[in-house]
Amino acid sequence: MAWRETRDPYRIWVSEIMLQQTRVETVAPYFERFIDRFPDVRSLAGARLDGVMKAWEGLGYYSRARNLHRAARVVVERHGGKVPGTVEELLTLPGVGRSTAGAIAAIAFGADEPVLDANARRVVARLFSVGGDPNIASVQKILWEGSARLVARGKGRETALAVMDLGAIVCLPRAPRCGECPVRPFCATFRDGTQEEIPPRASRKPVPHHDVVAAMFRRPDGSLLLARRPPEGLLGGLWAFPSAKRAAGESLEAAVRRAVREKLPVPAAIQRKVGAVSHAYSHYRITLHGYLCEATGGACPEGVGVGWIRAGRGGRYAIPRADRKLLELIQKEGTS
Ligand code: SF4
Repeated sequence: MAWRETRDPYRIWVSEIMLQQTRVETVAPYFERFIDRFPDVRSLAGARLDGVMKAWEGLGYYSRARNLHRAARVVVERHGGKVPGTVEELLTLPGVGRSTAGAIAAIAFGADEPVLDANARRVVARLFSVGGDPNIASVQKILWEGSARLVARGKGRETALAVMDLGAIVCLPRAPRCGECPVRPFCATFRDGTQEEIPPRASRKPVPHHDVVAAMFRRPDGSLLLARRPPEGLLGGLWAFPSAKRAAGESLEAAVRRAVREKLPVPAAIQRKVGAVSHAYSHYRITLHGYLCEATGGACPEGVGVGWIRAGRGGRYAIPRADRKLLELIQKEGTS
C-alpha cells in the first residue's frame, strides 16, 4: 500500500478519503494514477473539477472527489499549501470527518489521536465488548473513548496503523482470526466467546430497484450528447445521458419524453430503443434503458453543460458506469 510508505500528509489524506467507502484492492490503482496526475496539493487545487472527476471515474461516491478538490483550494488559500496537522483544523476541510481527521493527524503528523474508521471500530468494539449499533451516537461515544484508551503516548502513528491494520487483516468482520491475533489476551469478546456477535450486523434491507431512461442523441458523425449532472448528489458533476427515473404507472417512452422536456430545451422524437443495462449502486439497483432520439426542431443543443463525445473515445468526460455501458452498447452498433 503506497500510502503506508509515505509521511506526506497530502498523500495520506488522499488515501484516507479514497478508503472511506472503498476496498484497499480497488483503491490501489486509483491512488497511483491520482498521485501521478496530482502529485501535490497545489496541483490538485489548480486543476479543473472535470479533470479531478475524470481521475475519480469508476471509484464511486463522487462527492468525495468534489470535496477533495474544494478542500485542496482551502488548504492553498488558508494554509499556504500545507495540509494542517491538528484534528480541529482538519475538521474544517470539506469531506474530512472526525475519523479521517484523526487518521491524518496520527499517521502523517504522529499526533496522539484516536481513529475510528470501519476497521478500527470493529477492533475497539470487540476488544472492549461494546455491543449495540455503532451508528448510534451513544455507542460511538463509548467507541471513541475505547479507541483513545488504546493510543500509546508518543506513538500516535504506530497505534493508528496497528489498530486499522489489525481490523483489515486479522479482526475480520466474519470469522476473525483470533488464533493469530496479538491482542487476544486483552480481548473481552475473545474471552467471552462473543466476537462473532459484536459488533451486531446491520439487518439487510431489500435493495430497491428503479427503471431509469436515457435519451441518446447522435450526430451524423456518431458523436453522442452528454449533459453535465447538477453538482450535488451521488453522481453530481458527472457527464451522463439526459435521464429520468420512471414514475409509477409511467411508460418507459413517456419517461423518455419527460427526460428530454426537463433536461433539454429541444423538441424531440423517439427513434428506437437501443438496449438496457443494469448497474448496482450501494443502496439501490437500476436498469438504464437507452432510447435513441432525434431533435425535431432543428439542431441539437450546444453550450455550457452539454458535451458531445466522439464515437469510440472515452474522451475527457467523467461518465457514470451505467452510462458508459450504454455508450459501449451504441458504439458497438457503429454509426449506421
Ligand atoms: Fe479481534 Fe479476535 Fe483479536 Fe479480539 S482476539 S481483537 S476478536 S481478532
